[in-house]
This record gives sequence, C-alpha cells and structure tokens, in this order.
Amino acid sequence: PGGMERHSYDVVVVGAGGAGLRAAIAAHDSGARVAVVCKSLLGKAHTVMAEGGIAASMGNSYPEDNWEVHFRDTMRGGKMLNNWRMAQLHAQEAPERVMELEDWGALFDRTEDGLISQRDFGGHKYARLAHVGDRTGLEMIRTLQQRAVALGIDVFMECTVTDLFKADDRIAGAFAYWRESGRFIVFDAPSVILATGGIGKSFKVTSNSWEYTGDGHALAMRAGASLINMEFVQFHPTGMVWPPSVKGLLVTESVRGDGGILTNSEGKRFMFDYIPDFFKTETADTVEEADRWYDDKKNNRRPPELLPRDEVARAINSEIKAGRGTPHGGIYLDIASRRSPEFIRKRLPSMYHQFKELADVDITAEPMEIGPTCHYVMGGVEVDADTQESAVTGLYAVGECSGGMHGSNRLGGNSLGDLLVFGKRAGEAATAYARSLGDSRPQVDEKDVKSAQTSALAPFEVEGGENPYTIQSDLQQSMNDLVGIIRTAPELEESLSAIEAFKARASTMVVEGHRQYNPGWHLALDLRNMLIVSECIAKAALAREESRGGHTRDDFPGPDEEWGTKNLVVTLNPEGTGVSLHEKPLPEMPDELKGYFA
Ligand code: FAD
Repeated sequence: PGGMERHSYDVVVVGAGGAGLRAAIAAHDSGARVAVVCKSLLGKAHTVMAEGGIAASMGNSYPEDNWEVHFRDTMRGGKMLNNWRMAQLHAQEAPERVMELEDWGALFDRTEDGLISQRDFGGHKYARLAHVGDRTGLEMIRTLQQRAVALGIDVFMECTVTDLFKADDRIAGAFAYWRESGRFIVFDAPSVILATGGIGKSFKVTSNSWEYTGDGHALAMRAGASLINMEFVQFHPTGMVWPPSVKGLLVTESVRGDGGILTNSEGKRFMFDYIPDFFKTETADTVEEADRWYDDKKNNRRPPELLPRDEVARAINSEIKAGRGTPHGGIYLDIASRRSPEFIRKRLPSMYHQFKELADVDITAEPMEIGPTCHYVMGGVEVDADTQESAVTGLYAVGECSGGMHGSNRLGGNSLGDLLVFGKRAGEAATAYARSLGDSRPQVDEKDVKSAQTSALAPFEVEGGENPYTIQSDLQQSMNDLVGIIRTAPELEESLSAIEAFKARASTMVVEGHRQYNPGWHLALDLRNMLIVSECIAKAALAREESRGGHTRDDFPGPDEEWGTKNLVVTLNPEGTGVSLHEKPLPEMPDELKGYFA
C-alpha cells in the first residue's frame, strides 16, 4: 500500500541480543547489506542481563580442558537429547569466539598469569566460564553493539516484527511496526535471521523481561517452520522470592560456583540427599570433600550444589513442598558464612547490590531466600546444525529462539557461547544464500502486505471484548500452576483446555486508543505468540511420558530409553488454529563421538 515505509536488504536480523548482533556482524563482514530490528532499545536484550559467563574450553584454569570434555558435559547435561553436531560445533568454536570478543575490546577478568579467567558452573567438569564479574552479558553486548555501530549496520529499534513474507515457498521479507508511532514498515529481504530470544513471559514467576513472548518461535511456525524440544523449559534453581515485586528475578549460579550452599529451614545442607545415580561418580558425597573441591579440583569431586540446574531446581522444589522452606516460601542460599565480605563484593557485585537495594538483605552477612524461576527455553526453531537454516528457505534462527543445541537441559554459560558460535554461522550462511540468488529474489506480494496490516490492526476492530492484560495474566498463572516444574497428565490436559479458552477470549480482545505508543495494542499482538508457544509446550509435555532434563512428569518419574531416542517436533496445523505434533528420531552420532560416553 502506498506511502508505507519500505527498505531493502540482503539480510534482516530480528533481535539485537548477542545472537542477533553476532549474526549481523558476520553478515556484514561477508558483504551483505544488513539491518537489525529490535523491539526495545539497542542493548536492552536479555543478553545484557547475563551474569555468570561464556562457557568455552580455553584451558586457562585447567590445561586438561578441551572441546571433547566440553562436548561431553553439554551432551550429558542435556541428557543426550542434544543435536550432537550443534553441541560439537559449539564446543569446538566457542574458545575462538571468546578470543575474538576480546580482540574487539571486551575486558574479561584475568587469572594471575594474565589469561582470561574461567569460573566454575554446574555441569561443567572444569572451570570454563569466561566472565566479567557477574556482569558478563553487559560487557558482551557493549562490545558487539559498539562493533555493529562502528561497522555502520542499520538498526531499527523499538520496532516489532509481526509477520514474515514468503514467495514461492521462500522468504521474501518481513513486516514490522514502530512502537512509538504505530506506523508500519516493510522489509524486502531474501534472508531473515530470527534472534528473538525466549518465551519466559508465558510463566508468572520468571527471570525474563516483557520482551520474551516467543515472537520468533511463533513467526517461524506461521511461516511453515517447525520447532523441537518445546517440552523442555529450564527453571533456574535460584530466583529471588521476596519481596513480591521482584519474585523470579535471577540470582546467578556464580553464587554457588563461588562457594555458596543451599540449606533448608532446619539448617540442613540438603543437596547431598538428591544426587542422582547418573551423576554419582562425579559428585562429592560428603561435606568435607565438597568443600575441598573449591581449592583442589583434581583430587575431589564437585559439590552437589553444582549439579545441572534441573536437578537442583527439583531438589529445592521438594524441600519446599516437604515444609522445610523459608518464611517467604523459598530455601536459603548462603555465601555469607562461607566467604569473606571482600570476596563476595568483588566476585558478586551485582548480587550484592540487587539484594541490598531490592530486599534490604546484606548477602555478606546473611543468607538469601531463593526459589525456582522460569529462565530459559531449550526448545526452539528446528535448524540445520551447520547453517542455522530452518525448514523454510531463507529463514534462519539463532540463539535462544533456536532448538537442538541444549537438548533437554542447558548448562549455564552455554547460551552465551551458543549466541556467538551460531550467530556467526547464521550470518555467513544467510549472506551466502542471498548472494546465490543473484537478481532473482523472491518478491513480496502486495496482497500479503495488506493482510499483515489487517492482522496487526485487528485488535482495534473488535468491540466490547476483554483487554489483553487480564488474558495474559491468567495465562501466566495457568502455565505456572499446570505446566511448571513438576507435571502430570491431568494438569497438562487441563492446561490445554485452558489455552483453548484463552484463545477464544483473545479472539475478541479489544484495545483502547490509537496506534501511537499503545502498550495495550503491543501486548495484544504479543499475546497471540504467547498462546501458540504455550500450546506447543503443554502439548509436547503431555506427549513425552518420561522425565528428562527440564521436563519432569510426576506420573512418569524416570527417563525412558525409548523416549531418549527421539525428539518431538511441533508445527502449526493446516488451519493455523493450533499446533500439531510428531516424533522424529535423533540424528545418529558418529562412532568416534559415541566413544566419549562409553
Ligand atoms: P536476547 O538477548 O534476549 O535478544 C532478543 C532480541 O530480540 C531483543 O533485542 C528483542 O528486542 C528482540 N525481539 C524479540 N521479539 C521481537 C520482535 N517481534 N520484533 C523485533 N525484535 C524482537 N546465559 C549464559 O550463557 N550465561 C549466563 O551467565 C546467563 N545469565 C543469564 C541471566 C539472566 C537474568 C537471564 C534472563 C538469562 C541468562 N542467560 C545466561 C541466558 C542468556 O542470557 C540468554 O539465553 C541469551 O542472552 C539470549 O540471547 P538472544 O540473543 O537469543 O536473545
């Protein structure tokens, strides 16, 4: 339609977190004309909130570390459901990507020998997280953002993508609106890279911000791509529980990596009661051994507080359920009695301020109260391991909105590495594809532009319906209660009926006012995505009759060998009204890699 703002690029990247920025830089460096579109201000993605670090087997603290050990840890952490090729590429390439960040100006913490310092995290055999205090994401975003801006990459910020265009079954562009003015933009581009992050806002208690409404997941599905691993949602063991205004806010795993322990209301260090057989040989079973490990990792096994996140979150959940929780319904995380105030303030400056300012708790003097919080989605767009291309030609997905790399459970630090490794790969592949088209690029059909516009404006056309805030809040509560950390068939069935009811309510939701900065309208559009994504999670969770990683079924408590050989793949149904599910065998790991798990 006439007068609509319109731009043409080789590659459009949706999202300006670590994944999007790294992809944009790679596309630019490969010669593409590239734009980055993001729905908040540049720099305000989730990546900036990342605290602990970037996992990379640089071997600076432990020369015995290498990609094979990192690969093994990643696969075991994901309970072997990871796409082995992605886990391999990630482990092999993460060290190079960290060094490159340093070349671009990132200032990492140092070892005494002047190398990049590496910290301990759950599930990693050796200390391998490159970090900057507990503000690693900030430094990563600062570095990538500065580079992207210096390279002259076009950035469209406070601009939300609501539709993708296709022609001849290939990507032709994207449709977006400026949040401030409500005006529409059409991007003509043969390659679109989704880097929109996660889905955490579908849950009530979450460490995620308003941006995580699963837009990329839903955009991909609507374009005809598939998602995998959607039943696997990571509940981080340690979120704040008090005061209510900050419930869910993340307390970094570094607190435990640096010596913090978990205790219940009886003062018991309870994690020793929750060591699963799978991790017995590598976990300390006495307090003495666990405490020695911090200084001598060669001759001692790691403390049970540093088991993978799913194990720790379930243990905390059980303790609270058994009535051994804290006054505000959490568990104690204590570093005050274990490390000096100087050490704590130096290693965990953000945590110190977070608790002081938000909860009036001095973490150098008293324990924190914490509980599980929805943190990360392992599931995402099903992509080719080497190029990150989805089932739709020209559509790529990278970072948290892609699936496969982390299997059923992500290890801490492996997300930031994922963004860098696969961001680069996606940017390069998207550029190569765009270039291969020469002058014969798919053209956006004007009819599709019109219908994207109609669809975006639909919430203004309804009269007398409900406002989106109530529906969103009911959805969040329902997902928390019925599709949370411990699941059962009857509750999952109930959640699916609830989602159908929310969909019906959403079809008549109404927004007041005009297109100029109108948060109610923005939410109405985001809510459609949240509903699709929530349905994917609940449906896949109901189908997978076993417990594995970030999916725990009370009615199927253990892992099942048969389920360990397959993924659940979800697509939008042909009518576009809901999601369909099918099983798919895992890609076969080559024999030389199988050897690491003998
Ligand atoms: P993000 O960084 O979230 O970026 C998403 C981008 O997409 C944003 O720019 C957003 O505006 C944009 N966007 C979304 N939808 C649209 C749309 N429709 N149109 C336009 N733009 C859109 N991982 C680690 O490895 N180590 C850690 O120490 C660590 N700590 C963490 C701490 C916290 C508090 C949290 C929340 C997460 C942490 N994680 C950590 C996880 C990690 O930070 C995230 O998984 C990762 O940063 C996601 O990066 P991303 O680039 O995929 O998405």
